[in-house]
This record gives sequence, C-alpha cells and structure tokens, in this order.
Amino acid sequence: MEKWEQILSNAITKARELPVLLNTDEAAVDKVTTSYPMFINPYYLGLIQKKEDAVYRQAIPDIREVTDGKGFEDPLNEEGLSPVPGLTHKYPDRVLFLVSNRCAMYCRFCNRKRKVGRSIMVTDETIKGGIDYIRSNRKIRDVLLSGGDPLLLSDQKIHHILSKVRSIPHVEIIRIGTRVPCTLPQRVTTQLVLILKQFHPLFINTHFNHPSEITLEASHACSLLADAGIPIGCQTVLLKGVNDDPKIMKELMQKLVRIRVRPYYLFQADLVKGTSHFWTSLKKGLDIMSRLQGHISGLCIPRFMIDLPNGGGKIPISPNYIRGIKKDEMMTINYLGETYPYPLLTT
Ligand SMILES: *Cc1c(COP(=O)(O)O)cnc(C)c1O
Ligand code: SF4
Repeated sequence: MEKWEQILSNAITKARELPVLLNTDEAAVDKVTTSYPMFINPYYLGLIQKKEDAVYRQAIPDIREVTDGKGFEDPLNEEGLSPVPGLTHKYPDRVLFLVSNRCAMYCRFCNRKRKVGRSIMVTDETIKGGIDYIRSNRKIRDVLLSGGDPLLLSDQKIHHILSKVRSIPHVEIIRIGTRVPCTLPQRVTTQLVLILKQFHPLFINTHFNHPSEITLEASHACSLLADAGIPIGCQTVLLKGVNDDPKIMKELMQKLVRIRVRPYYLFQADLVKGTSHFWTSLKKGLDIMSRLQGHISGLCIPRFMIDLPNGGGKIPISPNYIRGIKKDEMMTINYLGETYPYPLLTT
C-alpha cells in the first residue's frame, strides 16, 4: 500500500474515534453522521489545533447540519443540467465531469453534500458515458474533472481517464478540481505527477480555505505539480468562522502565491441544505475583497463569485469603484477611498 493509501485507511468515521482532547459532543456527531457521513484522514485531523478552529469547523460534524431547515439539496441544479449521469453541461464550451465519489476528507460545507460518500454516483459506465458525450459534442473544448476528488482514483484509472479525454481532438484543455494538495498532499507522488504531465495543457484547481492548511507537505505537493508545468489555481470558499476575516483571507492569499498557487475564485458559500451556519452576508465578501484589491499584489487576488441558484451559472461580483458619471468624466474611487475623475473619451 502506498503511504497516502495508508493514511486514508486510517481515517476516522465515527464519533468515538475523535481525539478526546477535542471534547466534541459525540452524540451530536453520531446524529449528524446518520445523514451526512464523516471522514477525516489523520493528516488533516492533525491540522486541528483546538476545538472550533478553522480546520475543526471544516471537518467535524455540527449538530446544525441536521437541525436547520434552510437551503436546498441541489441548489445549483446540477442534476437538471445533466445530459448523462455524472456530467453537467451548463456552459457551451465546457463540462463538469464527475469521475470519483471519494474525497480525502468530507468537508462539512460541501456543495455536493447530498452525494459525497453516499450512494454510488460514479461507475465505469458513467465514466464511459461521460467520455462518449464529450466525444460527440464538438463544442466542448474544456473538460473539468471533478467529484468527489479525481486524485483519489488509482494512478492507473487517472491515466485511463486522461488518455481517453485527451484523445478527443476538440478537447483543448483539461482541468482537475482536487482538494488533495490541501487535505492529503501525500497523494501527489512523483509517479502521479509523471502521469499528469503527459496530458498538457492540464490545469489543476485546488481548494485551500485557511492559512493553517498551508503546511510543508502542501507546499511540497504544489512544487511537484508546478515543476511539472501544471498551473495551479485555488477555489476558496468564504465560510463563517473559518475565513470570513480580511486579515485571515489576506494571509491565505499571500501564502498561496508563495507555494505557487494562484487564487482563482473566492466563492460565496452555496445555499446547500445543512450548511447555513457557514453562510456569510454578501457585504462581508465585498468588504473582504475591498481590503485585498490594491493593498496586496494583484496575483494574490481571486475573483469573488456567486454560483447562481437553479443553474444560472457563476457571476463575479466586485466592490464598486465607479461612483458615477459626470458629463465627460467617470468618477472613480480607489483602494484608499480617494476619488479620481477619469475621462470617458467620447468622440
Ligand atoms: C464552475 C463550473 C464550470 C467551470 O467554470 P469556470 O468559470 O470556467 O471555472 C463548468 N461547468 C460547471 C457546471 C460549473 O459549475
Ligand atoms: S473535497 Fe470538495 S467534493 Fe470533497 S467534500 Fe470537500 S468540498 Fe466536497
């Protein structure tokens, strides 16, 4: 067994396996896990420093997951936009293709909470069906492999899927959405990287939410990927009690760039049932963005995105730097709150 498989095989799934020091309400955890399973591998568990810290909140079940009634099972209508099982075709030129139903850790705020770790949603048949769909749709130029976590598949399976997708002439780029560099960096082995680099242009979008997740191990995993020419982006989720603080967000974004990960999106948390204790106001996200923009390197600044309910797709939202139009000038406001006119240049 490889080291990462060993780590996974020691993951905890039951309340009584939780470290005593954390003093978690076991009855509450038992209750939640009958609806939404728990799975925390020892590496990620080890990042918890104390009860209710940012890592704890992402990993340990909270009774509010089953007591609050807000939100929707499938807020993004991924099922409704699914021409074949496991594949979502929402935008004309790209698809979201679920190729794995395992994750290295079950995030309590996951927007596929209804699926992750539960019924079999990915099989050899759905993978074959997805590949056939992509092959027969020549408009698809970007394939986003997701799940679950695609990098929890075996090297052999990853090689198989990537070869099939890469052999389709109209597919220009392949993306892998994976939380492994954060939650199980040991999975990024030299062997895996040798496989991945055969399928360029290949992009990875990973998912870090807090500076304490940026460890030596995570940094090493990202170096291996970046050295193989794989651009790494980050899709962070804005979560109450985890990272809804401008100082923490700034530190996270700066640390990501240090490990060669480019912030891509900062997501407003989706309106998923059982996650409302993580929700933040839109104003909170906008405030955080205005504390980043201009203050730190542009490389450290993600776009703040909302994924619209019912399959509307993602839209960027931004603090407003335009204060109005006056005759032939636009009145702007900069990151320090100073106003500047800018000519409209109408002819
Ligand atoms: C997010 C998403 C994509 C990728 O969107 P980008 O903005 O290009 O990163 C593609 N398909 C679906 C269904 C998605 O939800
Ligand atoms: S790794 Fe991603 S898909 Fe898996 S539980 Fe976390 S957010 Fe959900």
